[in-house]
Amino acid sequence: MKATNPRTGKADYEFATDTPDSVAEAARELRDRQGAWEAMGVSARAKVLLRLADLVEANEQAIFDALAIDTGRRAIARMEVQGLARNCRRWAARAPELMDGLPRDATPSLTPGVEIVPEFSAFPLFGAIAPWNFPILLSHIDAVPALMAGCAALVKPSEVTPRFVEPMRDVLAQLPELPLRYVMGGPEVGQALIAHVDYVCFTGSTETGRKVAEAAARALIPANLELGGKDPMIVTASADPAWAANVALRSSVVATGQACQSIERIYVAREVADPFLDALVAGAETVTLTHPDPGSGHLGPFIFPAQAEKIAAQIADARAGGAKVLTGGEVERLGGGAYLRPTILTDVTPDMAVIREETFGPVLPVTVFDTLDDAIAMANDSTYGLSAAVLAGSMEEAAAIGSQLEAGAISLQDGALTSMVGDATNHSRGKSGLGPSRMGDEGFLRFLRRKALIRQTGQAAPIDAFAEGPPQ
Ligand code: NAD
Repeated sequence: MKATNPRTGKADYEFATDTPDSVAEAARELRDRQGAWEAMGVSARAKVLLRLADLVEANEQAIFDALAIDTGRRAIARMEVQGLARNCRRWAARAPELMDGLPRDATPSLTPGVEIVPEFSAFPLFGAIAPWNFPILLSHIDAVPALMAGCAALVKPSEVTPRFVEPMRDVLAQLPELPLRYVMGGPEVGQALIAHVDYVCFTGSTETGRKVAEAAARALIPANLELGGKDPMIVTASADPAWAANVALRSSVVATGQACQSIERIYVAREVADPFLDALVAGAETVTLTHPDPGSGHLGPFIFPAQAEKIAAQIADARAGGAKVLTGGEVERLGGGAYLRPTILTDVTPDMAVIREETFGPVLPVTVFDTLDDAIAMANDSTYGLSAAVLAGSMEEAAAIGSQLEAGAISLQDGALTSMVGDATNHSRGKSGLGPSRMGDEGFLRFLRRKALIRQTGQAAPIDAFAEGPPQ
């Protein structure tokens, strides 16, 4: 397969893809190693994960160089690589505490004479299917806690961003005891992976998530789905409009908006709408592209070129429906890459694609509201429920609104905090996801299966206890 460089538009990277047979072989090999890995115990596994963190840091430049080409961005690529090392260290510290805290004592059952002793064991083979927007972070975000729990891990990164895998394989070659492997390719390889693992974590679009869930249902394995979003932000009349505009801008456009938790709908109170929009437009116009110098500016190219077409179509649809474009609005082709400056839309209506469908770009449709009830109703009028944000004059006011929003995580007095906070347990709603939280302790505990040892401490019932008798 070939991958396109998002800055040049050239398909200049070729990589070998897996086949159903090679996926089966990788799965078999990992299963063979998993028993010994789990038997090592959590403290020994933590040491291996700490070594992985050290090795990632020692090889940071090579991994970064590849990831920077994959994603067309530098600062975030650097943060992603460092984030992988942090993720390993975080779970290496937390997992042994969680294992220690598991209930292990016998407890009396409600059935007289019987005691129950819990035992915990990992799902043997964990599988991850990852998207292209944060390729290294999202390929490992669930794999690291799964490995700490004692699973072996088979990971399929996105075929759009495969370059980082080569330097990561060099790292893994130095850690032969770690049962972690990558398989490469597109949908067929994702499907092959699901057929061989015991638990699948998928991060990606809602449309693909449904196909993953269907395949997981056929294989009768749990599927943990982290899908798209259409996150709303409410700005109340008591919020400082200049501050709110700054927060809204950053929360919407960082990473060129290619983040599931990006703010994609803004609802602002009429009392502050004018100064908010003035500040938002002024702020947006200070945002620069990372072209031609990848070492300066804010917004890089779209990683997946087809994304630019989809966003251009949403903007065109909004314009055709009467929306005004206050700034931005045109996809620019520069040096072979596709870029979009922050695009602020007003006079949008609830039926427009830009309000209903995930955009995944730096587009901020702004709706003015008159009552908070209206704002909450509009924010909740979505099939998605990933996250949301509230900016108000006080934390109390923001929290009271946040409690009424239908989403898994609500940022108060900030936006898109889930991109920076890994320990906020939450459950996505609607089309945004399914299954336990990847954040917080549940992110680890979900990989442990519980077995009940049920002890009969009294007399086992004789067969006569179940014998038929005369009618009663
Ligand atoms: P995508 O759904 O197109 O692809 C994701 C992965 O699924 C890729 O590895 C792809 O090869 C694989 N795949 C495609 N078809 C498959 C199939 N039929 N069976 C098995 N695997 C298959 O997603 P994308 O475009 O790479 O990523 C962007 C999407 O990811 C956005 O919708 C975004 O919101 C979402 N996302 C969600 C989160 C979250 O935590 N909720 C985080 C990041 C991204």
